[in-house]
Amino acid sequence: MPGFELIGIEEKKAISKLFDDGGVLFAHGFNKQRKNFHVREFEEELNLKFKTKYSLPVSNGTSAIKIALKSLGVKPKDEVITQSFNFIATVEAIVDIGAVPIICSVDETLNIDIKDLRKKITKKTKAIIPVHMLGASCNMSEILKISKKNKIPILEDNCEAVGGKYKSKFLGTLGDIGVMSFDFAKIITTGEGGAILTNKKNLYTFCKEYHDHGHQNNPKFPRGNDTSKIAGFNFRITELQGVIGKVQLKKLNFILSENKKRYEVLNKNLSDFFKIRKIEKNSTQNYETFIIIEDDSKIRKKILNILSKNDFGTRNLPDAIKWHCAYFWKRAVGKKGVKNSLSTNKLLKTCIAIPIWLSKDLKDYQKLSDLISNLKKY
Ligand SMILES: *Cc1c(COP(=O)(O)O)cnc(C)c1O
Repeated sequence: MPGFELIGIEEKKAISKLFDDGGVLFAHGFNKQRKNFHVREFEEELNLKFKTKYSLPVSNGTSAIKIALKSLGVKPKDEVITQSFNFIATVEAIVDIGAVPIICSVDETLNIDIKDLRKKITKKTKAIIPVHMLGASCNMSEILKISKKNKIPILEDNCEAVGGKYKSKFLGTLGDIGVMSFDFAKIITTGEGGAILTNKKNLYTFCKEYHDHGHQNNPKFPRGNDTSKIAGFNFRITELQGVIGKVQLKKLNFILSENKKRYEVLNKNLSDFFKIRKIEKNSTQNYETFIIIEDDSKIRKKILNILSKNDFGTRNLPDAIKWHCAYFWKRAVGKKGVKNSLSTNKLLKTCIAIPIWLSKDLKDYQKLSDLISNLKKY
């Protein structure tokens, strides 16, 4: 379920306190006018929650990818490999740097196809971005092996699987650097927002400086006389978002367990009748989506009718496929990228992603499962 379903009284109270405590400042300075540094506290809590050395909340997930790519030293004309089932943001971040997105197909996990990934590596490859789509992990052990063998860094796009794990580690913390999104549709939300996670101090330092006009926040000097080494930009997150992020993060465990209960009703009742998305072994989803793969277009149409009539809708597949498959992004990935996404488009056309909503209870999911499984029973 997206965080917007569970945003309300606690967040409102925390925001109200922010105003009582001195108003909407920004992440630095004004020590006398304020009681808290909310963005810095959010950063600390992200570290604790996801067991990572460094976190940096930033303005959104897309900028997080761009900043992370820059921290890895990706330059114009370098190649960056990512997957065909994706959100366009990943490719936009690559293109915005002037680098070349190389599109890799997906397998039945709907995430990056390892065999194709091996084929796409060239001397120009400067980074690989596996994307844990719709709550489920990529094959991280193979990806990390490929990274080590070829000495190419891994940037995990974990915008859609916050809270998910691979071999007991949180997704977004297995590669060299990882990113999260807290936009309105993600599992926890600050309206807009994102974060970068890493265990590497040099990457963290670059990201911290770059996202804040190059500021080093040198404790020896006031900010007006701060030191700097690199030219940066402004991708800072606001204190308002920091306040909300801290509250939302506390709700993550609850959301994960509620998601799982609903997901399991669907899984138990539908997996005997339908082909469902393959989940990577040794991984734990954040259970925000359940995906059916159905070749028969008539049956697909019937499922979509049921979902619409009962007010469940779908999550990106098929309703927003044009924003989630590189086949439709010639403007950004070129002819070659479109060609590399042909098989993915064919596969995704057969997928129906059922969203997990908090506003629907287990009985609603049972009823939904019955309606859908009946299509195959009789
Ligand atoms: C949401 C999302 C992003 C971008 O996040 P924003 O915070 O909306 O900019 C990037 N990649 C994927 C896979 C996403 O789903």
